[in-house]
Amino acid sequence: MSLVTGRDVDLGEGDRVRRLLPTRALRTVGAWCFADHFGPDDVTTGVGLRVGPHPHCGLQTVTWLREGAVRHLDSLGNDAVVRPGEVSLMTAGHGISHAEESPVERPPTLHGVQLWIALPPEARDTTPAYEHLGELPTAHHGDLRVTVFVGSHAGLTAPGRVWSDLVGADLSGSGLLPLDPAREHALLPLVDGVTADGQPLPVGSLLHLEPGRTDVEVDGELVLLGGVPLAQRPIVWWNLVAGQHDEVVAARAAWEAGERFGTVQGAAGARVPAPPAPTSRLLAR
Ligand code: MN
Repeated sequence: MSLVTGRDVDLGEGDRVRRLLPTRALRTVGAWCFADHFGPDDVTTGVGLRVGPHPHCGLQTVTWLREGAVRHLDSLGNDAVVRPGEVSLMTAGHGISHAEESPVERPPTLHGVQLWIALPPEARDTTPAYEHLGELPTAHHGDLRVTVFVGSHAGLTAPGRVWSDLVGADLSGSGLLPLDPAREHALLPLVDGVTADGQPLPVGSLLHLEPGRTDVEVDGELVLLGGVPLAQRPIVWWNLVAGQHDEVVAARAAWEAGERFGTVQGAAGARVPAPPAPTSRLLAR
């Protein structure tokens, strides 16, 4: 059991988030390869969240909110407003672009997480898709409420399509949470005062649990991530996940050329340019 400290990242336009995955100490949890925790932020003034069109490939993005609303627009033509209790699951596969922004009419507070799932090699090039899902399975373990928003946990399976053995779940309350010993897990506290097996988990940290655990006693408001550890981690560079350096370079070049990732119509934010191409050879490890 190890506590990993994240870092603050500025997404531009004043949006600050806590990046909890990847960190130097922990790069993946199962196929989960990225985790940002944002808010609670007051979005009554200014533009709120505004991330302009940008590309993804080789991964799925998951947006889960505790408070507020986020509008998702993508190059397939989807235009959805995601709210608490609903999950936004975008399968980038071969390539998609999307924008995320606060809707004009919105609740005053924004609080949630954005997570990425690395697709396994055989699915990295799959057809892009978008799912906006409610009516997610919920269970109670003592006074602990568990809502599975993606993947499966303790006999519950969320409706969104995934390609590996994993879970993303929202936890609220206090109780003994069963864990699959084949998986590694991470607990991401959403508020102050969260504990796991009595250990405090400050906001901005992540508790990593190695495979072999069958349960953990939790108290508070948090997110559970878990999955079977990857045999080989992919390259995660900017918004792109790939198995080889050359695939990253090709995807980056395609975005800069306006190819492969389509076009997002109607987004408030500006198209996000790719960072300079990597100067050293990227390796999957
Ligand atoms: Mn994105």
